[in-house]
This record gives sequence, structure tokens and C-alpha cells, in this order.
Amino acid sequence: MALLDVSDIHVRYGDMVALRGLSLKVEEGEVVCIIGPNGAGKSTTLAAIAGGVRPYRGEIRYDGQPILGTPPDKIATMGVSLVPEGRHIFGSLTVAENLIIGAYMRKDKAEVARDRERILALLPRLAERIDFPAGRLSGGEQQMLAVARAVMTRPKLLLVDEPSLGLAPKIVDQIYEILLELRKTEGLTLVINEQSSNRVLKFADRVNVLRQGEIRLAGTAAELADGA
Ligand code: ADP
Ligand code: ADP
Repeated sequence: MALLDVSDIHVRYGDMVALRGLSLKVEEGEVVCIIGPNGAGKSTTLAAIAGGVRPYRGEIRYDGQPILGTPPDKIATMGVSLVPEGRHIFGSLTVAENLIIGAYMRKDKAEVARDRERILALLPRLAERIDFPAGRLSGGEQQMLAVARAVMTRPKLLLVDEPSLGLAPKIVDQIYEILLELRKTEGLTLVINEQSSNRVLKFADRVNVLRQGEIRLAGTAAELADGA
């Protein structure tokens, strides 16, 4: 059984149809990328999975359960975490405080502290800046912090919206290496949106090309690289 099974979802904003019959299956432990230009419907897809946007047709199953219509906070407690585009860190709070905000709803504080140390061990640059205001971090460090904060909720499924936006290629590779390491150490499954496949083909297990609310092409990264 797939961890995530999105089946034929349709989303409309007023008269504007953003998704027209999108289907997507994600197996546990996979890294699946959704590639498409601005306006293709990538953010809407992640929002629909996380419960922020409600499809008027279709079905979404997570861990075997239908979740369409479930409120976002409930979906979060089921193990789905979204890293929105544009990082959304709290610039005047410190790195440590940003991490705590991600875990505020978790009860066992000793466990939260252990998770924090384990995640920071993968992120030495953040660990060194733990008491810095997050607004003073570089763009790449802010993206790392946004990911680390999302992982502090202990998700099974991490949805990441355009993590490479505005970052240099070398930094993008570092972000992806961290995401892959977190997949291993935290047992994550990843769905990642990107505008271009350039740098992600080597990191993704499977790729879906999205255009105007429809998946136009889907396959393993190797298959898509051959066809490109
Ligand atoms: P992407 O993430 O691929 O750039 P989006 O999912 O953000 O695409 O947007 C898909 C389409 O839906 C775009 O045409 C966008 O302008 C439109 N859209 C997204 N959010 C809204 C909204 N809240 N209200 C109206 N239209 C929206
Ligand atoms: P993305 O491409 O990731 O969706 P955008 O800049 O298009 O980023 O959207 C930023 C925010 O504005 C999102 O919350 C999106 O839902 C909303 N939005 C996008 N397009 C429209 C639109 N045409 N009308 C109203 N809201 C929109």
C-alpha cells in the first residue's frame, strides 16, 4: 500500500481550475519530485495533501485512510508536515526558538530535546548559530532551518515547496543532501516541488511533470533523464 495515494483530484479557485484530475502515488521512503513552471499547480497539490485547500472532486489517502476534508492540524498530527515556499521562518526569533515552535505541540520535552540534537548534528552550520536571530542567516541556512523546524514535528511525510528557490546550485545540492540524510535518519518520505529538473533528477526516485493542473509525464528519474 502506498503511503500517499492522490487520486483524480480537481481544485478550483473561483472560476480558475488549478488542478484537473491529478493523481499521484508515493511509496514509503521514496523521494518524489513534482516539476513544473510557475502557476502549474505545484503549491496547490501540496496544499491539498496538507489539508489547506479542498479539492471538489477526487480522493486522497494517507496511510490507507481517506483524508480529504480533514482539517490541516489533524493531518499534521497524522504525520504530514509542509515546508512552504519562501521558508516562513521567524526572523526575529533565534534558530533554537524556531525549532521549538515546530515542536510546540509535542508533549515529551526530553524527546524533543533529543530530536533537536540529532537533527542539529546533521546541520553544523545551524548548530553553530543556534542563538542567532534567524533573520540574519543566509538564504540557504534559512531553508535548512525551515526544513529542520518541519522535521521537529516528527512527520512521516514531508512536503517541501521549491526548496531551491533563489539559492546557488552548490547550496541547492547541500539542501538535497540534508533532505536525503533526514530521509534515512528520520525515516521520512519526501514530496518536493521544483520549477526545473536540472538539479533534482539525481536526487529523486520518481519525477512527475506538472503543467496547467495535469501530470503530463511521470517516471523514474532515469527514465525522464533518457527522454529529456
Ligand atoms: P505553482 O505552485 O505551480 O506555481 P499554484 O498551485 O500556486 O502553482 O497555482 C496554480 C494556479 O492557481 C495559478 O494560476 C495560480 O495563480 C492560481 N492560484 C493559486 N492560489 C490561488 C488562490 N488562493 N486564489 C486564486 N488563484 C490561485
Ligand atoms: P506559488 O507559486 O508557490 O503558489 P505564489 O506566489 O503563486 O506561490 O502564491 C503565493 C500565495 O498567493 C499562495 O498562498 C497562493 O495560494 C496565493 N495566490 C497565488 N495566485 C493567486 C491568485 N491568482 N489570486 C489569489 N491568490 C493567489
